[in-house]
Amino acid sequence: MDKGYKKLRTRFAPSPTGSIHIGSLRTALFSYALAKSAKGDFILRIEDTDKKREVEGSREEIKNHLMDFGLVWDEFYIQSERKEKGLYKKAADELVKKGFAFYCSCKARNAKEEGYSKQLRDPCREKDITKGAVKLKVPEDQTVKYRDYVLDKEIEWNTKDVADTTLLKSDGFPTYHLAVVVDDNAMKITHALRGYDWLPSTPIHLLLYKYLDIDRPEIGHLTDILDPDGGKLSKRKGSVTVNEFLKQGYLREALLNFVMLLGWAPKDNREFFTLEEFVSVFGKDGLQKSNPMFNRNKLLWMNSQYIKESKNENLKTKIYKFYDGKYEKDLVGKITPLVKERMKLLSDYESLAGFFTEKPKVDKKLFGENWQDHLKNAFVVLESIDDWELSKINDCLMELVQDKDYKTGKFFMDLRIAITGNKVTPPINESLVILGKEETLERLQSLIS
Ligand code: GLU
Repeated sequence: MDKGYKKLRTRFAPSPTGSIHIGSLRTALFSYALAKSAKGDFILRIEDTDKKREVEGSREEIKNHLMDFGLVWDEFYIQSERKEKGLYKKAADELVKKGFAFYCSCKARNAKEEGYSKQLRDPCREKDITKGAVKLKVPEDQTVKYRDYVLDKEIEWNTKDVADTTLLKSDGFPTYHLAVVVDDNAMKITHALRGYDWLPSTPIHLLLYKYLDIDRPEIGHLTDILDPDGGKLSKRKGSVTVNEFLKQGYLREALLNFVMLLGWAPKDNREFFTLEEFVSVFGKDGLQKSNPMFNRNKLLWMNSQYIKESKNENLKTKIYKFYDGKYEKDLVGKITPLVKERMKLLSDYESLAGFFTEKPKVDKKLFGENWQDHLKNAFVVLESIDDWELSKINDCLMELVQDKDYKTGKFFMDLRIAITGNKVTPPINESLVILGKEETLERLQSLIS
């Protein structure tokens, strides 16, 4: 199928049923990279044929996220709109006509009802019904097989284990199974990557390709992402959606980079990639067959590296946006270089820099023995400074420490606590510069009076 002359075309086909799961981001990323590494096309197709499961706004959310991650599509389709063109019905009609599908007018059978899930053959398959839902008439005792593009092995089923499956519902909407086959064909998809969860539906699709007499794309199932605590990555153990991670303060670039390494590995041990770099080295060979582990500590580490490597100006904008304008932009700009080394997440900014905008509650128990003396003299010295700049502040305070024979560390710790309320903070003298003389003196005054 990998014919040299055929343009490589992949698709990401999410159902708009809520926030994008980290696994879906990976499917989108790998599909994008597979296409773009071969100068092919990446198609976004919204699979909204199950209207009951649709979540309002999630279609737009998917598009926005893909855009923001740089996973820009070449073509865009919406299945509910395609349905209006009668494309799926036409395929269903053809299958009925050829004897590979049948009508069933029973009330929609809930898979859980009446043990129906165990009953693989639908009683209506032998009846002469001419309207209702269209179902696949699965043949007895045939083998269907294919070679998985990702897992790189042949997988087969006996049709006796495959259920007669609904293809077109009585309301005219196709099910996923029919729509995916019709659309992958119509959109000339050459490679369909999807989550491992979808493997059990593959025999149904293989039958449909055969019965509709159309070529199938390469089909590849991406391995399940595992949680280090066992089992699949699940929301019981922490964040799993893109939104949740962004809300926690992860950078998009870091999240995307981390996802690149969930089931794909480069030939060397390189870990950091921009999207462009990833595309340039991505290939089928790097796709791994074992399930990747979702190591949350590694993600956090990676994020801190991205923060450290950020240009101050970029990081400033990110922090500003993260807090939705809560902190004044210029001030964030001044503070950013001071806190960036200590930030692992954008959300660390508040605990590190909150004291700039809000007077801290100082717990006096944190101070050392001579704290009152330290603060009184610091006040006097700082008050005498006319041009409030770093070198002046440094010099005056160091002079004081020497004159009074203070222990440098103890003196500055008391000063730090007085100004910030904390023992761990950005460099204190730099912080005083930003805080300004008036505010600095006020904070000291309130503690020594
Ligand atoms: N609509 C399916 C999903 O939400 C797509 C599965 C596939 O890519 O075939 O994951």
